Amino acid sequence: MRAFQLHESKVAPGSRESIYLPAARLYNDAPMDLHVEVLHGVKRGPIVLVCAAIHGDELNGIEICRRVANQVDPTRLSGTLMIVPVVNMFGFIQQSRYLPDRRDLNRCFPGSERGALGSRLAYLFNTVLVQRATHIIDLHTGAIHRSNLPQIRVNMDNEVACEMAEAFNCPVIMNVKDRDGSLRSLAAELNIPLILYEAGEALRFDYTAIEAGVNGVTNVLKMLKMLKGRRTRKKVKPVWAQRSLWVRSDSDGLVIKLAELGQTVTRGQVIAQIAPPHGGHSSDVKASVTGIVIGASNIPVTNEGEALFHIACFDSNEAPLATEMVDTFVEAYPNQAVPLHD
Ligand SMILES: [Zn+2]
Repeated sequence: MRAFQLHESKVAPGSRESIYLPAARLYNDAPMDLHVEVLHGVKRGPIVLVCAAIHGDELNGIEICRRVANQVDPTRLSGTLMIVPVVNMFGFIQQSRYLPDRRDLNRCFPGSERGALGSRLAYLFNTVLVQRATHIIDLHTGAIHRSNLPQIRVNMDNEVACEMAEAFNCPVIMNVKDRDGSLRSLAAELNIPLILYEAGEALRFDYTAIEAGVNGVTNVLKMLKMLKGRRTRKKVKPVWAQRSLWVRSDSDGLVIKLAELGQTVTRGQVIAQIAPPHGGHSSDVKASVTGIVIGASNIPVTNEGEALFHIACFDSNEAPLATEMVDTFVEAYPNQAVPLHD
């Protein structure tokens, strides 16, 4: 087994190295590096890239990366794991989703060597890491003030990605089209199977999302035969959703939520009431489809037209299954901090 060469560094078989890729300089001339943890195994196998915080305020994925890097023993690993806990380091230090010029890094791929900051960072990430990977797991959370039920997003045209999605073991798998400039579309172009994990809310730790994410990444590594052992936790049978939509408010006022994340709702069901703050009549917000609530706004005030609930659609005969499966999932991953083992 040979050493793993990345940029100017070499990682010996059965070892872990921190590699710093010079990404940019700040106004004060301070260097900014893209920090990669490489765990190089003792046997041949896939090269998996696990990355988080392409949106700088999405923190659950960073903690998932940290735990995975500490839990995986490179002397028992087949293949190589490249872990990048913070891709958008500029957004991370500013607690912002975006780059300093307000661009979205996830619209900057494949990037360019001579472009603006985002393009250059995307280019570095693409050429040094993405193009080395045989499989990619991209970790995200909901936007600020919006929570997501742990879910996998995948382009169902890619068979290997579908297998990874199923192995991850979370309640909902959503089919998504590739969006221009995203890491997902770059991976599709390069024909690298990618799954995207969405869970929790920006700027918050959600321990259900984190634990499920750590187990999910580990399960995928086991599916790819990089790690030995059985997949962890009770297996959930995910709902495969072909499409999703947002239910919006049709008036202004306070939001009284009547449905929660993970709940199965049927078409026409009242899922919130919008009440004027000074009293008087409230109006009903109804689910426009049958499905499962996979995303919700956490702000209890709204203007007309604002998105309140994100619902993944499925046939009504799948509803009992979806309910049972979310219950199993919630039981397996209670939302509480667990003591650190390192
Ligand atoms: Zn994101």
